[in-house]
Amino acid sequence: MDSSGLPHLDRRIADCRACPRLVSWREETARVKRAAFADWTYWGRPVPGFGPADARLLIVGLAPAAHGGNRTGRMFTGDRSGDVLYEALYDVGLASQPTAVHAHDGLELYGVRVTAPVHCAPPANKPTPEERDTCRPWLVQELRLLRPTLRAVVVLGGFGWQAALPAFAEAGWSVPRPRPAFAHGARYLLDGLELFGCFHVSQRNTFTGRLTPAMLRDVLRTAARAAELPTAS
Ligand code: SF4
Repeated sequence: MDSSGLPHLDRRIADCRACPRLVSWREETARVKRAAFADWTYWGRPVPGFGPADARLLIVGLAPAAHGGNRTGRMFTGDRSGDVLYEALYDVGLASQPTAVHAHDGLELYGVRVTAPVHCAPPANKPTPEERDTCRPWLVQELRLLRPTLRAVVVLGGFGWQAALPAFAEAGWSVPRPRPAFAHGARYLLDGLELFGCFHVSQRNTFTGRLTPAMLRDVLRTAARAAELPTAS
């Protein structure tokens, strides 16, 4: 498949029902809702990646949030983690606006795609290893489709790192053994693909200062330059 296959892949992902616990959780969350979003019709389905099919930079998170992506149907959209991520992407020059409120808010990403190794919102933001492995073929297919243009990847957090490295190997990149360890600021080269580690943009990290706005922007700017994307100074 070439890059024209990515919209097709995204539609197939959105119909997936392979993980019984996650199907039940995402649909239950969509039924019950959070009071603040009572007038929303939740998406309640797997959330595909977001961004252009010829992206040079990929950002890999963990999984959609129950009242964020699972509500809006777009990755990192409608939750605090997404607010932090998209504001940083905007500041670095990789997004058209600093906010991500709903799927039709006009947000465009420039040369960047955002995805997750698990496409359904999990209870307590914790997918099981089995769910992570069940979802991996979707990430492998996405990586294969992006491969012609992809030059750099930022992985947010250790879970995403553990999930992504086997997917890179399956998609055709040489991943060394033992596998490179996750750390904030880690940088490895895999067959012409620059791989960066960054603490996840979760509230637990951003509220405590473990991940500061400057740290996030620094990783994103470095990765964008590695991918030869223009950045804002
Ligand atoms: S987590 Fe992935 S494999 Fe499991 S149901 Fe959702 S999309 Fe399908």
